[in-house]
Amino acid sequence: MIPVTKPFLPPMAEYNKLLEGIWSRQWLTNMGPLASDLEMKLKEYLDVKHLLFVTNGTVAIQMAIKALQIQGEIITTPFSFVATSSTIVWEGCTPVFVDIDPHSLNIDPSKIEAAITDKTQAILATHVYGNPCDVVAIEAIAKKHNLKVIYDAAHAFGVKVNGRSIFEYGDVSTCSLHATKLYHTTEGGLIITKEPAVLKQLASMRNFGIAGPVAFDGLGINGKNSEFHAAMGLANLNYIEDIIERRSAICQRYDERLKTAKIHKSKWHTQANKTHTYYPVIFESESLLLAVKAELDAHEIFTRRYFYPSLANTLPYVQHVDMPITDDIAKRVLCLPLYYELTMEEVDLISRIILRVQNN
Ligand SMILES: *Cc1c(COP(=O)(O)O)cnc(C)c1O
Repeated sequence: MIPVTKPFLPPMAEYNKLLEGIWSRQWLTNMGPLASDLEMKLKEYLDVKHLLFVTNGTVAIQMAIKALQIQGEIITTPFSFVATSSTIVWEGCTPVFVDIDPHSLNIDPSKIEAAITDKTQAILATHVYGNPCDVVAIEAIAKKHNLKVIYDAAHAFGVKVNGRSIFEYGDVSTCSLHATKLYHTTEGGLIITKEPAVLKQLASMRNFGIAGPVAFDGLGINGKNSEFHAAMGLANLNYIEDIIERRSAICQRYDERLKTAKIHKSKWHTQANKTHTYYPVIFESESLLLAVKAELDAHEIFTRRYFYPSLANTLPYVQHVDMPITDDIAKRVLCLPLYYELTMEEVDLISRIILRVQNN
């Protein structure tokens, strides 16, 4: 059996060493020493000024919407994980979908202005598969119309654009450190902002809005994360370069083996590095995708239709709209298995099956 993904696990002895510290301190959660250490090391690794380690990537988006005091309409992408839309609705706002660019697969900035109304307060865009959005165009639109920008950067850990962390674009960026992501803390998330005032508010929000033993400075939630999750993050951080390198080699092997396949790839931002979070391929037709998927399934090789279907005509709690480009791409895109332990022989096998189906 070949799964679509498998979480990276550090050598157990290294994790256990950190657990011994937890046992001796008996400090399990609430901004403990490992969580603080992780925040410090991630700031350094990612080269960002401020960040907060939080419960998960979904709560991170909710906190961002809340801290920026956004109400009303939020322009967003239909081609993303469900949390990009559900958080908007959860916070009492209305998602307004704008179709994606067929090459980058990110929200198409040239279509954003037409969707702006007097109720629009923000843009929430996803860097799909870690490929940066057109951050310059989005910033210009946001400035012109006085909108906030939040990036769902769940896929973009370690991505830099124009030599700067992708996390430093927008008013707030969020990341997921879930077990299935490139770099993980089992469950976890990050909130990144350059704004000290927003950071201060988010830090308070993360801890119920508690300002002191008998004082509150605003509405909060439990957005904290534990020492156990921080320990996983610290242990994994020692391997991040190794993880990216290995994934890069696997992707290169797929590229070589699939040279003659009837597939194409999304176009990557020219000023950004790749961290190889996913290996998505876009087939000529949905019928070819389904035939390939069925044949891989028969060999117990599992792929994922990520992201299918479009959020804009699927979720029961949003107004359904057709987004022609998203609807088309979502039907034809498939993510192939990609994880640290995947072998070159397995990549070759997967590639052979894909070529065999297309040539039938
Ligand atoms: C994984 C993911 C999330 C949610 O993150 P969690 O940590 O699982 O809550 C949000 N947005 C996108 C694009 C994701 O891939």
